[in-house]
Amino acid sequence: MAKILCVLYDDPVDGYPATYARDDLPVIERYPDGQTLPSPKGVDFTPGHLLGSVTGELGLRSYLESQGHTLVVTSDKDGPDSVFERELVDADVVISQPFWPAYLTPERIAKAPNLKLAVTAGIGSDHVDLSAAIDAGITVAEVTYCNSISVAEHVVMMILGLVRNYIPSYKIVVDGGWNIADAVARSYDLEGMQVGTVAAGRIGLAVLRRLAPFDVRLHYTDRHRLPAAVEEELGLTFHASAQEMVPHLDVVTINAPLHPETEGLFGDKLLSTMKRGAYLINTARGKIADRDAIVRALESGQLAGYAGDVWYPQPAPAEHPWRSMPHHGMTPHISGSSLSAQARYAAGTREILESWFDGTPIRDEYLIVDGGKLAGTGAHSYSTK
Ligand code: NDP
Repeated sequence: MAKILCVLYDDPVDGYPATYARDDLPVIERYPDGQTLPSPKGVDFTPGHLLGSVTGELGLRSYLESQGHTLVVTSDKDGPDSVFERELVDADVVISQPFWPAYLTPERIAKAPNLKLAVTAGIGSDHVDLSAAIDAGITVAEVTYCNSISVAEHVVMMILGLVRNYIPSYKIVVDGGWNIADAVARSYDLEGMQVGTVAAGRIGLAVLRRLAPFDVRLHYTDRHRLPAAVEEELGLTFHASAQEMVPHLDVVTINAPLHPETEGLFGDKLLSTMKRGAYLINTARGKIADRDAIVRALESGQLAGYAGDVWYPQPAPAEHPWRSMPHHGMTPHISGSSLSAQARYAAGTREILESWFDGTPIRDEYLIVDGGKLAGTGAHSYSTK
């Protein structure tokens, strides 16, 4: 029987919800590329309820315990005295969410001889040292597509929020004010702007599709080119690299995984080639941008705004400069953890666990590392050092 160690974010400060703002979730049959939604044999939760926090337990307890397994759920994940580090020593399976990542470093992997499966309840397994997982024979799987559209919606919201100066304008209202000039002195229309994405995978392409009706000029760069029909339909301009693309853009959105090719990509050098007053939206991973270079670019006016929901480390310390830099629209890491997304990634996690314990293959699209190498989606989208 296995021990499953699950790291989730804390419950709301005023307690686990007794009621919800809405009674149901829309039914979605398939993802835009035709991939089917998670299809476990059953679920023991109500879609639309809070599943990603400790009390929600991703709806897994009764299923796992009915199979004789042990489930340990904690939010205490950092430092040698954390519950995570203590419980890891004899865990067979670790489940973690990118929003509240349980960093699986080489040192931690070395302390976990039984660990054979690391599940990301979400997308983006960079909190797992993939090279160390490969060496230790650990399978890494994530719930591909579960929150790609959730993030794409957040990106569109943040682009509009920055360009139209929404957050300072909202603050004027909350503070009892009415100074229109203060609100509009940094407010523009998105219409006609040059907007581009670094990576046009599931999220990047969904962002492009959602922005097309705003009558903007769309650009992208990616390691693989999109089909010509898609480029034509959306009027996309392809660029061979981020370096080639960003000087042309008013708005840049980052939608690539964090791996050695993308870490630190948006540093002083690349930022200095952007148009003065460009906007940068990063909902991919905090480390793709250089923390202090972003602050400098906002302070100098090189960037007119920066928004996103990804930081390093997470949770971000109280003194993290992105909390107080000018013209930012940061949120905590929430874009992929809407209640809608939680229902999908909880079901996907259950599907992965069912496959694992039944000895049947995990869907190829969920695999990042398997059999001692990058596999499935991981072989396509990631690289190792
Ligand atoms: P996909 O795998 O569908 O897309 C990733 C794309 O990035 C692929 O098209 C890939 O190229 C491309 N890519 C990889 N490396 C580079 C590079 N060096 N330069 C340009 N393009 C590159 O993933 P998703 O779109 O679903 O997610 C993307 C990322 O977004 C995740 O890895 C994760 O880090 C982040 N994310 C954030 C969330 C949040 O809550 N904020 C939630 C979900 C994801 P190709 O495949 O063509 O080689």
